[in-house]
Amino acid sequence: MTSIAKLIRPHLANIKSYEPVDPPELLAQRAGIPEDQIIKLNGNENPFGGSAKASEALATMPLHVYPDPLQRRVRQALSDYTGLDVDRIVVGAGSDELIDLLFRLMIAPGDSIIDFEPTFGMYGFGARIADAETKLVQRDELFEIDVTDAREAVDSTTKIIFVSSPNNPTGNLVSEEQVRSLLELGPLVVVDEAYFEFCDETVVNMIAQHENLVVLRTMSKWAGLAGLRVGYALASPDLVDHIMDIKSPYNVSTAAETALLASLKDADGLLDRVNENVAERDRLFGLLEAIPRVKPWPSGGNFILCEFEPGLKDEVYQGLANRGIFVREFSSDRLRNMFRMSVGTPEQSDAVVAALEDLV
Ligand code: PMP
Repeated sequence: MTSIAKLIRPHLANIKSYEPVDPPELLAQRAGIPEDQIIKLNGNENPFGGSAKASEALATMPLHVYPDPLQRRVRQALSDYTGLDVDRIVVGAGSDELIDLLFRLMIAPGDSIIDFEPTFGMYGFGARIADAETKLVQRDELFEIDVTDAREAVDSTTKIIFVSSPNNPTGNLVSEEQVRSLLELGPLVVVDEAYFEFCDETVVNMIAQHENLVVLRTMSKWAGLAGLRVGYALASPDLVDHIMDIKSPYNVSTAAETALLASLKDADGLLDRVNENVAERDRLFGLLEAIPRVKPWPSGGNFILCEFEPGLKDEVYQGLANRGIFVREFSSDRLRNMFRMSVGTPEQSDAVVAALEDLV
């Protein structure tokens, strides 16, 4: 009998996989609480859900026809939304797929990427799958990036520099000035703006001047379409062509296309809810600041990183989980006293704050 282990590419045999969040039914089961009563704040999902217009459109769409491989309608709609030409836009099954496609396109075994730690885990995960090295450039004590450190880390193997802005999970933004300095280093610079709508800060205006800049966006957060998997990349027409050439032909499902089109038609309504969520983020931040032994970190996203006095976090995390409140913790050493909490509804914030006051 053939052993599968012998057939698998050696570097993938024992790969450290991505640590995803568990689905609501499992969280509910663990807490012994009905699913509709748990407070799920571990995935930076939209507490309002998606647009009702998207749900209506999904209910009547045909299921049996393949989606457009060239994504014409969705790229046009995104062109109207972003103000960039269609030839600078490519759509993926979530921005996760676009990260994966950038690795496929650019990274060979032995190449390297730069990650500003702590940050979103998908960049390092992509590197592990590609058998590439992740050069970790540590963020400073305020979680700001240091371009000088990045300059020292870049060498001839370095193909991509990833910067999440706002950074997941720390919430801080990269400046245009910093991005400009990173672009001068030569590798592709990927600015991941998954939370753009929650801060309104973007480097999209720099794309036309910089062939090596890619901006990633997603419909998962502001438009509440995380379950449908649809995100997009904005880049030079050349790079977009290369990504289009290697992506699988029907990568964005018709459901995702339909929901994206309906959501963009309802963009004003969705952005009103984003504004509500941002106001709630600021209110929640104030409430957290008033709790002893907890330090909330300022955030441009739909989440807040909370830091606890050493030794306290595990107990608080477990105490919240026992009450059916789920937040996101991380295995990284620098985040061992912290967890990230999505900004939910005002009622959810109040429940979390009451639980935290009780626990600390
Ligand atoms: N980038 C960042 C910074 C994120 O936080 C996330 C979602 N957790 C993604 C990308 C992936 O988003 P999508 O749902 O579009 O794959």
